Formats: sequence, C-alpha cells, structure tokens
Amino acid sequence: MELELNPEEQAFCEEVRSFIKENLPEDIALRVRRNEKLGKDDYMRWQQMLGQRGWHVCTWPKEVGGPGWSVVQRYLFEVISAEMNCPIIQPFGPRMAGPVIFTFGTEEQKERFLPGIRDSSIWWCQGYSEPQSGSDLATLSTSAAVAGEDYLVNGQKIWTSYAHYADWMFCLVRTAKEDKPQKGISFLLIDMKSPGITVSPIIGMDGNHSFNTVFFDNVKVPKKNLIGEEGKGWTYAKFLLEHERVDNAAIGVTKQALQHVRDIAAVECVDGTPLIDDPLFHARLTQVEAQLMSLEMTALRVLSDVATGASPGSASSLLKIRGTEVAQQISLLGMEASGQYALAYQQGRASLPEYQFMAGPEYAVTATSNYLWKRCMSIYGGSNEIQRNIIAKRMLSL
Ligand SMILES: Cc1cc2nc3c(=O)[nH]c(=O)nc-3n(C[C@H](O)[C@H](O)[C@H](O)COP(=O)(O)OP(=O)(O)OC[C@H]3O[C@@H](n4cnc5c(N)ncnc54)[C@H](O)[C@@H]3O)c2cc1C
Repeated sequence: MELELNPEEQAFCEEVRSFIKENLPEDIALRVRRNEKLGKDDYMRWQQMLGQRGWHVCTWPKEVGGPGWSVVQRYLFEVISAEMNCPIIQPFGPRMAGPVIFTFGTEEQKERFLPGIRDSSIWWCQGYSEPQSGSDLATLSTSAAVAGEDYLVNGQKIWTSYAHYADWMFCLVRTAKEDKPQKGISFLLIDMKSPGITVSPIIGMDGNHSFNTVFFDNVKVPKKNLIGEEGKGWTYAKFLLEHERVDNAAIGVTKQALQHVRDIAAVECVDGTPLIDDPLFHARLTQVEAQLMSLEMTALRVLSDVATGASPGSASSLLKIRGTEVAQQISLLGMEASGQYALAYQQGRASLPEYQFMAGPEYAVTATSNYLWKRCMSIYGGSNEIQRNIIAKRMLSL
C-alpha cells in the first residue's frame, strides 16, 4: 500500500534517504539486515548521528527540542529507516523518559535530563516490573522512604531491559501505603551508578542478554529526582505506557520483515517450486499482509488523533495486540520458510566475516532466534491478555 505523498513529503523522503545513505555505518546496517543482536555501541553510534541532526527525538515537538515532524513525516522516517536497515531507536530515553520529563518535570529536571536524551549520550532503562508485580503492576513494593533530602530505595525490579547498559533508570517506587494500591506510587529518576545498586543478568531463550534483575539496597536518591508530585506516579506511568503501546505497532520494521519472508520464499523451493507459489504458504502470507495493511491504517488514524493533542487511550491497546501478533506470525513464516536450515543452533555465527562455516544461507542463521525473541512481544508493555481486558472494559464497556 502506497500513501500519496505531496511534494514536501517527497522531498522529506529524499532528505531522510540521503542522510541515512551518507551516515549509517555499513557494519551496523549489515548486522541489522542479518537480524543479529546489536550491542550498546551499535545503537549509540547510530543514535548519536541522528542526535546531531535532531532526529533521535523524532517524536518530540519543537518547543522541547524535537524536529516537530507531522504524523506522516514520523511514519515515513520509520518506514525508510527500516527499509535501509537502520537499528530501531531504543525507546527508553526518547519515547519514555523524555516525554514524562517534558510533560511533568520541573524546569531544572528538563534542563538537566533532556539534552542527554536529545543527543543520545545517556542510556535510560525502565524500572517498573517486580517479581510479584507484572500485569498487576500497582501492587509493586520497592520502597522509597524519606531520609532528609533523599529517598532511601530498597527492593527489586525484574525484566529490566538493558539495565546493564543504562546510565539512568526511571523507576516506580512505593512512597506510601494507601487504601488503593495505585495511590502512594511515585516516579523517581535514579542514577544507575548509585552505591547499593546491583544489576544481575537474565539470559533469554534466544540466547541473548537483554534483561536483568536490579536490586536496590539502601540506595540514596535525591528528592529533587522525583517527577511531579509524590504519590502521583501512577498517573505518569500510565501516560508513558499508553504512548509505549502505540509505538509497539512497529509498522516499518514489520513491513520490512514481511518483505524479508517474501525474499526467502522466492528462493526456497519445495519439489522444485518456489515456496512463494505454494498455495497454502501464499495464502498465509497474504492473510498476514492484509492484517498488516489494516493495522497500518489504524495506526495512522490513532497517530493523527495524537497529533491534535488527544491521548491514544484504549486504541493503543488495540495497536499493541495486532502489531505484536502480526510480527509474531511473520517471524514464524520466516522460520518455516528457512526450512531445515533454521534448525541449526547458530548463535553468534552471523557475526563471522565469512560464511564458510554457516549451515545454510545467510537468512536462515537468525531465523530461529528471531522467532524465539518475537515471542516476548505479546508480553512486554503489558501482556496482550491485559490489553484485551482494557479493551473489554473501556471500549466495549463489558
Ligand atoms: C522483552 C521484554 C522486555 C521487558 N522490559 C521491561 C523493562 O524494561 N522494564 C520493566 O519494568 N519491565 C519489562 N518487562 C516486563 C513486562 O512488563 C512484564 O513481563 C509484563 O508486564 C507481564 O508481567 P509478568 O511477567 O509478571 O507476568 P504475569 O503478570 O505474572 O502474567 C503471567 C500470565 O498471566 C496473564 N495474566 C495476568 N493477569 C491477567 C488477567 N488479569 N487477565 C488475564 N490474563 C492475565 C498474563 O497475560 C501472562 O500471560 C519486559 C518484558 C519482556 C518480555
């Protein structure tokens, strides 16, 4: 599906394409094309280049230092970036911490924290989930007790993506026990170098280290790092989650993944016939493509409402469910299309300069780890079951 672009939008696409062509390091583009796990250095190198152009915070309005792009420009940037094998922009600073800080933070907090997000010199992580509080996040128990000019934080967070890379964490803590668990939660910004923080790795079933457990043992956090009012953290947390779920639709990356499966199915053969011509496989591919097209239209509709100042509300749940389901189906098709080559466990092999030791073609190397990784999409950002509950309650009044 092609959007009809006006001359300014066409010029914008040209600008984005030529920027990426001139600046995206080849080694990073290659790793993205091969679906390999990227490291901190890969993300930072690319994000800092975007930062120099003001594009790392591409969803921010001009007043807070963003490019002030329209919904269409943001969409075009995402699609072109995926087409040209750019790494996805890690959301923790620009899409999560940043908007909370510029919406609810003090002037001092804005001056202190926003520049490091704009230029991508600071890596943020999200401290929400706890071992007993995932879907039921409001029951969280990591505590922050007032001690003079500081809070003393004690407790444990879990599934903290890239905490091992992070300089700062935005964190939900309990500052009071109230009748409703949502009350008494506060939103703190915590320096990850603070004494008393221990980051412990969790290795995923795809074989990679993305998650961590983070322990807090009497960690001193200055009171000036509190966002907004004490006890109102749930409001800020919900604001952030609604925006996170819109982003979880990830249309650009998913379109690229679909094209990748098409490419595999064009060369992989069954009984001498390309898989793409197999009626069953073709039907499954077409069905998922139709779902992706309707998701794309819905995402654009929601984004244009957001651009006029509306909150994404429950529609973000809808986008999260469909976006993640479509991406998971595509990863399954990619693994199936790679056939027996996807069976070999080839962790890290795609990083080799030559392919003489590879079992099978390049596209098969990460097909299984990609499939396994994509299982997590229906869990993070609030599981898809929870999103269905939200839709049932708020949209269908059930
Ligand atoms: C890839 C990935 C990255 C993540 N990154 C972060 C991060 O950076 N920071 C962070 O704080 N957290 C992160 N998380 C954690 C994530 O937010 C939680 O895993 C998620 O909220 C679910 O919580 P849980 O794992 O405790 O599962 P549980 O809440 O224990 O749920 C277990 C199962 O029960 C179902 N369930 C639970 N309650 C209900 C209900 N009321 N109705 C129907 N079904 C229900 C769930 O859908 C799920 O299938 C990440 C998770 C993943 C997978």
